[in-house]
Amino acid sequence: MSIIVQKFGGSSVADAERLFRVAKIVTDTYSAGNSVVVVVSAQGDTTDDLIAKAAEISQNPSKRELDVLLSAGEQISMSLLAMAIEKMGFPVISLTGWQVGVQTDASHSCSKIRRIDKERLESELDKRKIVIVAGFQGINRYDDITTLGRGGSDTSAVAIAAALHADLCQIYTDVDGIYTADPRIVKDAKKLDEITYDEMLELANLGANVLHSRSVEMAKKYSVKLEVRSSFENKPGTILKEVVKVERMLIRGVTRDNNTARISLVEIPDVPGIAFKIFSILAKKNINVDIILQSIGRNNTKDISFTVAHDQKDEAIEALREVAELFKAKEITCDDSVAKVSIVGAGIETHPGIAAKMFEALADADINIKMIATSEIKISVLIDRDKAERAVQVIHDAFDF
Ligand code: ASP
Ligand code: MG
Repeated sequence: MSIIVQKFGGSSVADAERLFRVAKIVTDTYSAGNSVVVVVSAQGDTTDDLIAKAAEISQNPSKRELDVLLSAGEQISMSLLAMAIEKMGFPVISLTGWQVGVQTDASHSCSKIRRIDKERLESELDKRKIVIVAGFQGINRYDDITTLGRGGSDTSAVAIAAALHADLCQIYTDVDGIYTADPRIVKDAKKLDEITYDEMLELANLGANVLHSRSVEMAKKYSVKLEVRSSFENKPGTILKEVVKVERMLIRGVTRDNNTARISLVEIPDVPGIAFKIFSILAKKNINVDIILQSIGRNNTKDISFTVAHDQKDEAIEALREVAELFKAKEITCDDSVAKVSIVGAGIETHPGIAAKMFEALADADINIKMIATSEIKISVLIDRDKAERAVQVIHDAFDF
């Protein structure tokens, strides 16, 4: 008998009709002889609505109380789904994060799962019950409710799958898998049958909004076999695993991320210790730096440019004002109408022509590259934001998926 964890996102459980559709998927899996644990998100826009409700009361509620509020969303879905399954005549029980012992660290609003006490889960499964678990929530060592960050139910599902050594963890969503590009931008984007954890992690970090990136990290760490598939159409989705057949397809996907801005410190001294100073200040403020570029020194000065998340650009500039003055920088500039476009694929490391092909596609489309960053499995370029969709399209065309 296999253990299967099935996670259903907010749109999949949005109303009664959809809940019955989910109940059918779950009970079919159960009837086929599997042990089934179901992890649910809050219905539709419930989490956003709850955040808005909190804002009516206070602009600055404590994170503890916000977590208490937000965890209610998943509690609604889990009980409604259990009622639907009950009505269909199957043995079922719904459990909150704390009832199944999802232990997290002490922080709130973006807590990390430390461990899962699986006794309760296992004893319910032993009784041949379908177990429905509230995603996105846990409990910390002070017995306070915590949440895992927006989109965190994916991570709940993978953590439970890892704890139970499940045979498969299925993430049911409103798309039928992982695509080579956002199908809303690229009409002939193709669905991938398989992708490696590392490739998916890059895609998730680079702007593909399908999986919570922490869930992918965890799936890799514990070798959880993950499948992303549609709750609306019954067909195979995309399987995530350690190694996949590369065949002809060297690139797995093209992504775009608009949440970026470029900051430059212009004409700072070309002496040791400058980069250290700048990036340690940003690190202290918890500002994540992405692409970094340093110009060749001339007249004993150089420029350093880097990208940060768009919503952290003001904070970054503020934090650097003092050093800029100290170093007598000519100026700090910020270009915030940029986007990062990336290609991801395990083949990049071993195939030297790939970068050239990407740059050629951009050159032919007359799109200027402002910054470049590469790793073993990705190449990212920073370009003007208003050209980003076109860039995704022309790069996708060039790689002949
Ligand atoms: N309901 C939470 C959110 O909307 C968690 C999730 O959906 O995964 O972010
Ligand atoms: Mg949600």
